[in-house]
Formats: sequence, structure tokens, C-alpha cells
Amino acid sequence: MTDAPRPLLERYRALLARDGESFPITLGEGMTPLVHARRLGDELGLDQLHLKFEGTNPTGSFKDRGMVLAVNRAVAAGARAVVCASTGNTSASAAAYAAAAGLPCHVILPVGKVARGKLAQALAAGARLIMIDGNFDEALTAVRRLGEEGLAVVVNSVNPDRLDGQQTGAFEVVDALGRAPDALALPVGNAGNISAYWRGFTTYADAGRMSADAMPRMLGFQAEGAAPIVRGEPIEKPETVATAIRIGNPASWELAVEARDRSGGVIEAVSDDEILDAQRMIVRLEGVFCEPASAAGVAGVRRLAAEGRLDRDTVVVCVLTGHGLKDPDAVQAEEGSLTPIAPELDAIRREMDL
Ligand SMILES: *Cc1c(COP(=O)(O)O)cnc(C)c1O
Repeated sequence: MTDAPRPLLERYRALLARDGESFPITLGEGMTPLVHARRLGDELGLDQLHLKFEGTNPTGSFKDRGMVLAVNRAVAAGARAVVCASTGNTSASAAAYAAAAGLPCHVILPVGKVARGKLAQALAAGARLIMIDGNFDEALTAVRRLGEEGLAVVVNSVNPDRLDGQQTGAFEVVDALGRAPDALALPVGNAGNISAYWRGFTTYADAGRMSADAMPRMLGFQAEGAAPIVRGEPIEKPETVATAIRIGNPASWELAVEARDRSGGVIEAVSDDEILDAQRMIVRLEGVFCEPASAAGVAGVRRLAAEGRLDRDTVVVCVLTGHGLKDPDAVQAEEGSLTPIAPELDAIRREMDL
């Protein structure tokens, strides 16, 4: 046990904890790999492209970084239950941490596409699922009201503990590189994560753990059919294959715009085709399998590099927000690869095309 890594919240306790606070609940969140993507970088024309793979978190997405803080504090405050609206990963994370805390977890889901793996995670952990005939934004409105009525603690990113905990992603990037990157790219859905990363870099600079003169540019990417910040108005019926960012009215809209503007960054839209292309490239060139939404940052960086808006030596980190296994239906099988052939060596050799 002596070699066990310290839990995430203990590791960054000086920057996150209140006086005397303890964090008994942990599932081993954070400490995710930063992969130097040489082959993908070659393809994109970037020598210093790095992937922060959040799929190795306990429930397979970055949501665990904020959820661990939110649930520890909910327990300390005497909560009787937690509640969230979710496109999938928030519910998977809330269900797991609530289970570890011994608290009931209620999830309000928008009707329609929630990725299969995420639903399985929430169900397996015993969350109570309520599907509404409405979109994510309506689900979140209902959840906020339940929270105001004191019936349960809201663990969506409108809970400030979520964004505070998610800052640890930025801390780890700086710790791994020994400096902040020149640019940090990520998908934008409810816009909490881009806000949390920016806050994290600011917190780290204020604490003297990185240079305040070397803040990264924040590059956020929405899906074309769900790009309210890019268009400057809420989208009533957001649509995209990237279900984790199928959000029409982001809760952290202003914070995200502030992160973009203060950092000299951008928030732009990428198409579903660009997203799926990027997802395929990442796993085929680097072996890192992320879900579609997670590939939006790489899709965006690919375009910026192609347009000459990122120099070859720019240090770029793309945050791959969730694991590909959550949404296996998004991967198209190669034609014919699953048709059985005779169990004979010759036939197999022919098929291998060696
Ligand atoms: C939640 C989520 C996002 C979007 O993050 P926001 O903080 O809502 O902008 C992106 N990708 C994945 C995999 C997610 O789970």
C-alpha cells in the first residue's frame, strides 16, 4: 500500500480544500496519461501534439474529476440524495460516486440518443433513471428547481464544486509538460470543461506553479448542429452524433466566452464527418480510443493546422474527454470483416492478404 498514488483531491489539496476538509470518497480518479501523438502530429503538421486521455478515469470520462469533489461535499453537507440531468457521462459518474457514498442518485435524461455504455453504467450502479420527453436543457431546468427545493444536491456543472474539481485536468497537463501548452483544445457542450481548464491554468499561475506570462490559448469546438456559442444564440433542437455535446444552451456560456477572449483563443464548429474522421485517425494512428465528442478538439486542431493557423512547433494539448467503449455503436465495422470463412489455414492466409 505504501506505493499507492495519493488520491487526486489530496494531491492538489492546497489548491482545492477548505480548512480541515477531508475527502473519504475516491475511486482513483485523475492522473490520466498525456500521450505524445507523433504519428497523428505528423499527419496534422504538428511536432508537439499531445493527447490528454480522460478515458482512463474510473467511469471513463473527465466528469469524475469534478464529481469526486461534488459528492464528497454533498456527503459532508448531509445530503440525502444527488440529482443530475445528463447526456450520459455525468450520470455514469454521479451514479458511481453516489454508490460509493451510499446515496441515492436520480438522473433526468432527455429523450433520444444516450450512448449505450453510459446508460449501462448508470443502471448498473443503481441510479434511478427518469426519461423526459424533452431536450437536455429542459432536463437541466427541472434539476435546478429540484435543487432549489432542497430535495437533492445537484451535481451538474452548475454545482461550483464540479468546475473546481475539473481544474485538476489543467494542473496535470502543466505537471506533465513542465509548463503550460501554447494551446489547449477540447470539445464544448455545456461549456463547463473549457471554463474549468481556464480557471485551472489561472489558479496554477496564481499559485506560482507556472508562468503567468505563458497562459495557453483555449480552443473550443462545438458540433455544427449544436453550436450555440458559435452562432450567438441558443439552439432549440441540437443534433449531432457526438451525443456528449448535444447541448443547445450551455450553462457555462459566459465563462466559456471569457476563457476564449482572455486567452486569445477561439470557439468554432466542426461537422459530424470531421468529428468521426478525427475519432478514427486518433485510434488508428495512436491506439487511443475515444468517444465521438472527444474527437471534436482534434478535428478542430486539424482544421486550424491545415489553414496555417497553428505553427508546426506549437505545443498543443487536445483533451480526449471520454472513452470510446462508451459508444460502440458510433464505430462502423469494416465491410465483410465479420463474415465467417472456412476454419482452414489456407483460407485464413488468403483472408489476411499477407
Ligand atoms: C461532458 C462531456 C463533454 C462536454 O463537456 P462540457 O463541460 O459540457 O462542455 C465532452 N465530451 C465528453 C465525453 C463529455 O462527457
